[in-house]
Amino acid sequence: MFKYPPIDDQILDLLRTKDEFIVLGHVSPDGDCLSSQMAMYSLLLKLGKTVHLANAGPFDRSEISHLRSDFLAHIDSELYHRNPIAVVVDCSSPDRLGHLGAEIDGLTTVVFDHHSSGEQFGTYRYIVPRSVSTTLIIMQLYKALDVEISQEIAEHLFFGFATDSGFFRFINAYRGETLRLAAELVDLGVSPNVMNDRMTGGKSLGYVKYLGKLIDRSESYYDGKLMISSSCLSDRDTYITTDKPSDLLYTMLLSVKGVEVVIFFKELEMGVTEVGFRSSHQSTVDVGALAEQFGGGGHKKAAGATVHQKISETRKLLIEAVGKLL
Ligand code: AMP
Ligand code: MN
Ligand code: MN
Repeated sequence: MFKYPPIDDQILDLLRTKDEFIVLGHVSPDGDCLSSQMAMYSLLLKLGKTVHLANAGPFDRSEISHLRSDFLAHIDSELYHRNPIAVVVDCSSPDRLGHLGAEIDGLTTVVFDHHSSGEQFGTYRYIVPRSVSTTLIIMQLYKALDVEISQEIAEHLFFGFATDSGFFRFINAYRGETLRLAAELVDLGVSPNVMNDRMTGGKSLGYVKYLGKLIDRSESYYDGKLMISSSCLSDRDTYITTDKPSDLLYTMLLSVKGVEVVIFFKELEMGVTEVGFRSSHQSTVDVGALAEQFGGGGHKKAAGATVHQKISETRKLLIEAVGKLL
């Protein structure tokens, strides 16, 4: 049975005794990152602190665009010189903070994260790679500091967990504590039904058509062990959507018999390609380690990287690299 390790007293004391905090998360924030930031923000507010939220964005996905105004895009010098504590959540290396990484340089930094790869950073760290989400790590912090979890906070904690667990799909045997924590949140007023609507609903028709196109474009390599799909710049004009199609795309492509690795290439601009990786439950391929070879990172089964190469070249390099692992 898995148990969360105790949180260092030094970290707890810092949160108890300091007055001003900035809560940060990784660029292109996902559900776990934003929910962790919100839950950490509420925790510190409940402890009576002055708290700021910051994220380099972008906030252009429909489900998060309304949050943009709550987050600072920069740390101004007045705030910096008050010497706040930087609390970084769901972020495996300083460069994943985007331009904010340099802006908090020199501040006392505490990191709460669950990524298995990346660069150790921060003055203090509480890293639990076996935690399904960073929000479940923040939940441990609520317990350790004996702060009440309201219904609203419980929703944040559940939402991050739902995002990173593929709504319970990626939880392994003997990890009952994950379900027990989720059950606690449901007893605090979270409706998994409402959370699912929030996670998967509200998309445009353009989004669904874009997803269909990406499935249509998928190709298989190495006897079907690798499946890839790509999106080029011109898709932006054809399919008007700011949403990431990837999660459903990965689910569809991973459902093909015999597939081990799925890679999605997205041309961000000429010569810059975003790469998303997933590997199947049975596969021995560690896509986090693979992504790290290309300057990215993530987890064994889900990872990403931004490669400064043309999309055609990036595809070639990645197909070759996967071939060596299969
Ligand atoms: P995504 O495909 O964006 O859902 O990302 C899957 C996982 O990989 C998440 O845990 C991300 O935090 C991580 N990840 C995505 N892109 C990067 C990157 N450029 N560098 C490091 N980790 C990443
Ligand atoms: Mn994340
Ligand atoms: Mn996460």
